[in-house]
Amino acid sequence: MSGGTPVVPRESTPERPSPPTPLPTVGAGGHGGDGAPILEVRGVSKRFGGLQALNDVDLTVRPGQVTGVIGPNGSGKSTLFNVITGVARADRGSIRFRGTEIARLSPDRINRLGLGRTFQLTRLFGQLSAFENLVVVARGNRASAGTRADELLDLVGLRHVRDEYAANLSYGQQKLVEFVRLMMSDPSLVLLDEPFAGVNPTMERRLLEQMDGWLAAGKTVLVTDHEMKIMMEICSEIVVLDHGETIARGTPEEVRADPRVMEAYFGR
Ligand code: ADP
Ligand code: MG
Repeated sequence: MSGGTPVVPRESTPERPSPPTPLPTVGAGGHGGDGAPILEVRGVSKRFGGLQALNDVDLTVRPGQVTGVIGPNGSGKSTLFNVITGVARADRGSIRFRGTEIARLSPDRINRLGLGRTFQLTRLFGQLSAFENLVVVARGNRASAGTRADELLDLVGLRHVRDEYAANLSYGQQKLVEFVRLMMSDPSLVLLDEPFAGVNPTMERRLLEQMDGWLAAGKTVLVTDHEMKIMMEICSEIVVLDHGETIARGTPEEVRADPRVMEAYFGR
């Protein structure tokens, strides 16, 4: 995972203490959002054969906020996340992360710039322990990575499964491990692809508490999910995709009231 090629120097972030025990208060507009965008997607298109998966998509993510992407199945949400993180390459358009054009960079380069993500289906190493799954993605000093990994497992109440194979963890535990693993690289922007799908209410609460801790630590979140109630609660701004096109954007209230959104979901 930690490639050897020289990269753009990472921000020298001094050792940061663990975020304080988070309160589940993730909420719209709770953390600023007046600054310059942390992520700007402009005119991005992506075609798979005869299918236009993304068509001229614009997206602006403001720092310190939770921005949501919603849309029916197949509307292009995961593809959008894939092109932002370099997993797929946009055919057209610009993607700027903290002012740097990243549309042509590799996933590893993009990750090193401070952009982390989870996948719709968790991607843990099943034959590594929970602890090892965290350490293996760390860069630099092994010992401090181990300390950090234990802190993160403690933080989400998973210390007792530290040495279990990831494959043996419950689905919710796996999600939680993947969630905290993101923090090993201390990203400033985190993309979450359906983090709440299939998790029980207890686990959902723990994920939300984590997210709250990230926001309190100054991080930014871009999330997609079908759990509309949660999305409406946590997002400051929501963009709606349908057939790869942006059909609406605005506050949760604005989006909910937009007839085009209802039609995209139920109108056919
Ligand atoms: P969503 O995440 O909103 O459900 P996706 O971005 O996964 O939607 O998919 C958008 C469309 O692109 C779908 O029709 C899907 O089948 C298609 N698609 C996604 N990835 C690929 C791929 N690698 N090759 C071909 N078609 C793809
Ligand atoms: Mg998807």
